[in-house]
Amino acid sequence: MLPRELLLASHNAGKVAEFERLLAPYGISIKAPFGEGAELVAETGASYLENARLKALYVAQKTGTATLADDSGVEVDALGGAPGIHTARFVSGVSWENSREILLRLMAVPWAERTARMVAVLVVVDGAGYEVAMSHGVVEGRILTWPRGQAGFGVDPIFSVDGVHSLAQASPEQKDAWSHRGQAVRNLIEGYGSPEHPQ
Ligand code: IMP
Repeated sequence: MLPRELLLASHNAGKVAEFERLLAPYGISIKAPFGEGAELVAETGASYLENARLKALYVAQKTGTATLADDSGVEVDALGGAPGIHTARFVSGVSWENSREILLRLMAVPWAERTARMVAVLVVVDGAGYEVAMSHGVVEGRILTWPRGQAGFGVDPIFSVDGVHSLAQASPEQKDAWSHRGQAVRNLIEGYGSPEHPQ
């Protein structure tokens, strides 16, 4: 069973809001201990899983508290799967600059070939740093030709699941139903149970 309270190893306000929303129905509350800022710990892993483990362990060892970490990114087929695990730092640490770079590199790529997916890997460690759960989620979609919408964060304005609306135009409920993070949370609960839904 997953802990009732978790620290979230992230500075990303968008991720914090989504996890609060996604986990509350299962009786799990999230605290983000470090406020807004740069990367918590150098993300030197070779995979989403390695990076999620690095972040979760770092926070658990610093605080002695059970911690959830998410490592995520967008994989663009026409770019050979880039930026993937490097999405947050593709050409800079500024998300609209990274989205602009993706759009520029895809300028001559036709709609049929603009396929992409968003991936999230979650790791939960206990207060001693032992891994107690992991899960992953994927959502398939396409990179739009131009940004749309104001909501969300990161590449939401350029990523579309239905081929028309971006994730930044979706309601929070619709984004959660579609998103890689929503899938990953549902997989986590299914695999490990929760305070509200023990196994
Ligand atoms: P990291 O997990 O901290 O390495 O950051 C992942 C990066 O992927 C973010 O900075 C965003 O650019 C992008 N990303 C991950 N999840 C989402 C999402 O749900 N919407 C939009 N962008 C996302």
